Order: sequence, then structure tokens, then C-alpha cells
Amino acid sequence: MITLKEALCLSKEELSSFCAELKEKIKKDAHIGAYVEQFTNEELKLSCENGVPIAIKANINVKDWETTGCSNILKNYISPYNATVIDKLHEAGLSGFGKANMDEFAMGSSTESSCYGKTLNPYDNEKVPGGSSGGSAAAVAAGLAIAALGTDTGGSIRQPAAYCGCVGMKPTYGRVSRYGIIAYSSSLDQCGPITQNVEDAAILYDIISGHDPKDSTSANIEYTPVAPNLNSDRKLTIAVIDNYIEEASEEIKSAFSETIQKLKDAGHTIIHKNMMDTKKHISSYYIVATAEASANLSRYDGIRYGNRSEAKNLKETYIKTKSQGFGYEVQKRIMLGSFVLSSGYYDAYYIKAQKVRHLIKDEFNEIFKECDLILAPVAPTTAPAFGAFATSLEMYLSDIYTISVNLAGLPAISVPVAKDANGMPIGLQLIAKSFDEQTLFDGAMSLEKSVNYKK
Ligand code: GLN
Repeated sequence: MITLKEALCLSKEELSSFCAELKEKIKKDAHIGAYVEQFTNEELKLSCENGVPIAIKANINVKDWETTGCSNILKNYISPYNATVIDKLHEAGLSGFGKANMDEFAMGSSTESSCYGKTLNPYDNEKVPGGSSGGSAAAVAAGLAIAALGTDTGGSIRQPAAYCGCVGMKPTYGRVSRYGIIAYSSSLDQCGPITQNVEDAAILYDIISGHDPKDSTSANIEYTPVAPNLNSDRKLTIAVIDNYIEEASEEIKSAFSETIQKLKDAGHTIIHKNMMDTKKHISSYYIVATAEASANLSRYDGIRYGNRSEAKNLKETYIKTKSQGFGYEVQKRIMLGSFVLSSGYYDAYYIKAQKVRHLIKDEFNEIFKECDLILAPVAPTTAPAFGAFATSLEMYLSDIYTISVNLAGLPAISVPVAKDANGMPIGLQLIAKSFDEQTLFDGAMSLEKSVNYKK
């Protein structure tokens, strides 16, 4: 597959013959389920005429596309407008060309909760691609997309990228506009790139970033593009969190130590730190995220938004609409979120979770006083088999390495570094200070060179 950098140099004719081949490949590999629907010739022709094709996670509004967040409650909803990130793609000569599968409303870690069915991991079809941006990562890994956009609320870009051997980057909170992206947890959500390599991630990140007056949480600060200034020769101080690694499998642990050695050989300085019990990260995240989700999803009542299930009175209509429109995991999270926000439990759970969130941010700030970047695993294991998580809680626990980054609003990037004994990809992440994406990408370029991962 050509890279994004190469694709941006193609002539109109070259792009159109590339698209014809891509379309054939997508049809042939339809069993992977990377996209939520097959393309018609007409659709692909149109999108390819508009620019370099980019796969778009199904929770990002594209004008005239059916935009559902992979939920039955939004089936047949045709978006009347573009998300800001889509307008930005168009301005740069790119174009959205296919809806990538995802967990319903981005709630999940395996893409098993999509109303369209599951996506397979291209490395091993018995295994999950990760989630919630599993379709985006599988499309890039299987050569069915040059690059993709995903969203990351608690790891949904980095973790599927790690499970599928691609690069996935979550920008600093506020760096990329959330306008037109279906909200899951508004204080955590960020849109970012999933690509074949670090340079492409920097290129796509530059294209979608910058202040947007339509998003009140978008940071109104000057934006300097990172891709033209990439420098993998910078010598950085990289912290590793010693007690962070305890939960990881032996294979992840050994990939982690080997990578540390390679970074030392590349001239970086490694320092060792500790953080508070990471189980608290999970509790804090799942309280904040579900609380915000319960507020965001209350709009889908079948009256003002979403598909309606008719019933004999208003209350019955609400109950039937939400019971039929939302899947099991989403219903569970709405109930958990409503519970932690309810009178009497608000102080005990929600306020406490927000306090822990601050402590996590303070801890990161302390660590960043002495280093440029932090190196951490992305997930405790490589991609698990379908159905491997017997309970939701087991799945939540697998988010241990990604969610603190969202709670603290930091930028991070997942880079493939090795494979396990079964040939499944292992990704590690670098985390940077807020708005220091340049250092993040510089470090990631150096990491990519040092590990020399073979696809
Ligand atoms: N797995 C996490 C969750 O289910 C993260 C999802 C995400 O980043 N969208 O909430």
C-alpha cells in the first residue's frame, strides 16, 4: 500500500487507477468487516475524484452519508453537514471515502458491539482488531485504506492501532475540533490519525488540527505544523513508569525492556518513575466517561433525536425507544453514568472520580518536570480472541494503560515495536506534555527507526 505522503503526490489519473484497485481489494477482503458497508462504484468514483481517500470512523459526520456511530438508534440518519475534520481534509486535497466500523457510540475495546457486526483482526481473523476504532485500524493494516481517522476517549485510537500493527495518535485535548463528531465523553474525546507509519500520522495530524470557533473546547492557541519539522535525531529524556508495567503479559514486558535498550542505543536517556495504583485510573475513567455519556446520550429519546419505537404513551415510548435502539453495553453505561450523577451518589462517586483525575494530571506534571516523554505499553496483552472478555469489567481492566492519558488530556502515540510468539503485533506508546506534539512525533520517529518493525 502506498503511504499518505506518496498518495499526496499522485496525479489525478494515477489516483483514479489507484482507487480502482483499492475498490477491488475492498470487495475481495469484505469478510474483514473494516467498513460498515460495501461501496458502490459510483460512491468510490465520486470520493476518489475529490481527493486522496481516507477511511472515516462511523461516528464522524460526513455530509450526505449515513452517520450512525454504529448504533441502531441512528440507523438511516443522513448527516446534513461535515464535521470540521472532514472540511479540513477537503481543504488539504483529501476525501472521506468509507465508513470504518466501530463499537457502538465508541464504547468498547474490541469493535464487537457495532450494530453492523464485528471486524476481524487482519493478522489473525480469530482475534479482535481492538476498539473502538477497530474498523479504522483493520482497514489500514489490511491495506484497505492509506490512512484513517479514529477517535480516542480512553484509548480507542492507540489500542486498535497496537493490536493491528499500525501507528495511532491521540492529540492533546483541544487540539482537534470535536465539532460534528458524535459525543461519547466530551471532556475526553479527541479525533486523530491511524496510519502506516509515524510520518503519515504527523501529516494527517497537521491537516486536522487547529482552533475551531465551532467547538468551545478547541484550544485557541497558535498552531505550528509538526510534519515539516520532524527530527528523529533529537536526544530525549524518556521516563518509564516501573509500577505501570506490572499488569502486562510476559511478552509485552520483554518487548518493553528490549525497546528501552534500543532507545538507549539511539542516544536517549531513560529515567525510572512510579505512579499511584493504576486501578484508580480505571475507576476514575469509567465514572467520568459514563457520567458524560449518560448526559450526551439522553438526547436520543426518539422524539428530538434518533429512531422512535412507537408505544402507547410518552413514558412507554422512551422506554421502548431506548431499549430497542441502544445495545447492551451502551444501556449499561447510561445506567452507570446516571447512577454516579444521581443525588446522594454524586459526591461519593462523581466528585471523587474528578478529584482522582486531578491527582493523575498532577502526577504526570511532576514526572514531566524531569523528562520529555513517557514510554508505556498500550495494552496488557496482544489482541485477544473474540469473546475473550467474559464480563464488561474484564474488558474495562484491559484499558489500564491508555485511559490516564485522556484523563490528563495529554497527547500520545502508539507505535508497533515487535510481534508475540503467534505473530501478533505489540505496540508501545509515547506520551508527551500537553501541546508538545512536536516532541511526541520526533520521539516516535526515532522509536520507529530503532525498532525497525516488519509488517
Ligand atoms: N475502551 C474504552 C471505553 O470503552 C475507550 C473507548 C474509546 O476510547 N472510545 O470507554
